[in-house]
Parts: sequence; C-alpha cells; structure tokens
Amino acid sequence: MSGAGPVVVAVDGPAGSGKSSVSRAAAAELGYDLLDTGAAYRALAWGALQADIDLPAVDAGDDSAAKALSAFLPGFVYRTATVPEERWVRVGDADVTDEIRSSRITAAVSTVAKVPAVRAHLTARFRDRISAAATGIVVEGRDITTVVAPDADVRVLLTAAPEVRATRRASELPDEDHGAVARSIAERDAKDARVVDFLTAADGVTTLDSTDLDFDGTVAALVALVRSRS
Ligand code: C5P
Repeated sequence: MSGAGPVVVAVDGPAGSGKSSVSRAAAAELGYDLLDTGAAYRALAWGALQADIDLPAVDAGDDSAAKALSAFLPGFVYRTATVPEERWVRVGDADVTDEIRSSRITAAVSTVAKVPAVRAHLTARFRDRISAAATGIVVEGRDITTVVAPDADVRVLLTAAPEVRATRRASELPDEDHGAVARSIAERDAKDARVVDFLTAADGVTTLDSTDLDFDGTVAALVALVRSRS
C-alpha cells in the first residue's frame, strides 16, 4: 500500500473477460468502493445520442461533429453507483441503468471513447472519485492500469481466451446468436485496441487469466492478489 489514502486496485481487460462482475464481487468482499468506468463511457454515448450528436460522422473523422461532441462535454452530468451492492447509472435525472447495456449503446460507445477530449474529461472525473474513496476502491476499465491510475497499489489485467469470453457473454445474452456475440466482441476489442492496448500487460501489471477458472475462483484470485499487495 502506498502510504495514506485509499487502496487503489486497477483492473483492465477486454470485453467479456468478466472484469465487471469479478471487480464488483471482489470490491464487495474487500469492503471497497467500485468504479465501473465503462458505465461512464456508455452513459456518455447515451447522452451524446440524446443530444443528437452525429456519432457516425464523429467516427468518420468529421471535424464539426467532433466539435459538437467536445462542446457537449461540460454540460454532461452523470452519476454511477459506487457501492458494489448497488447498480445504477443516471444521466441528469434519467435512470439509464438498463438502456446503456443495449446493443444501440454498445455499438456507439467505442466511437465516443476514441475522442481524446472525451477520455480527458472522464479520466479527470474518475481521478476525483478515486481520491474520494474511504478505505479502498476497485476501478475497472480499459486504461486504468496505464492512464487513469498508473500508480495504483494493485494493477491487474484480467484476460480470458477469446472463445471463453464469447461463450460467457453469450450466456448473458440468451436471445442473441453465439456467432454474432463473438463477432461483436472481436469488433469492439479491435476498435478499442486502437485507442488503448488493453490486451498486453504493461510493466508492473499482473495478468490474471480466467480461461480455466470459474467465477468464484477468479474473484478469489483477485482478492488474494489485493490482500498480498496492500
Ligand atoms: O466495460 P464496458 O464494456 O462497459 O465498456 C464499454 C466501452 O467503453 C468499451 O468498449 C470502451 O470503448 C470504453 N471504455 C474505455 N475506457 C475505459 C472503459 C471503457 O474506452 N476505461
């Protein structure tokens, strides 16, 4: 543990690695807060679509659409639950908890996430929330070990083989075709990886490969890692 302040546990990983549910369960067991940074990116994508920002044009590199997105940021107000037992996300007065998990938002989120002004804006918000934690906080996302909290007490890259990630994600989405889920994960990872390399552990980051572990085993491995380091 690095002296005063909360214990910070940074967890990065690709889509379907189980990092959200594993981080949540580990935070609950440790009595720490949880910061789901993907929820913030999703909330921002929801808000941008609500504000009629042309995201396909942003994706295509259109300057005026990118400017409209930057101009939207200062007025964007969101909150996410940080108690691991709670799960809600609000944008202004709207509860968007379920809607930000829809395929409409999942398809839009990588576009907003690649805009540097968006990343800078959210990173500042994340750092404020990390410093406000009481005992400790588990922060999960794509760039936590490298950008948001490179000095975290514990830095973990949670991975799993691509076919295992696809199978796990498909079991959460029983109405969707397995092949389509696998393609969507691969596409989103490829898009996200152009912005942040979350598939290779940076120096000092421990890789936790959950391919051959079940959920409880993965949570136990993460908790053990935190207890051994903090
Ligand atoms: O983790 P989740 O699937 O909810 O993340 C949604 C998206 O938000 C990712 O696909 C990525 O585009 C973006 N993201 C990011 N950096 C983070 C967290 C999420 O770019 N720290």
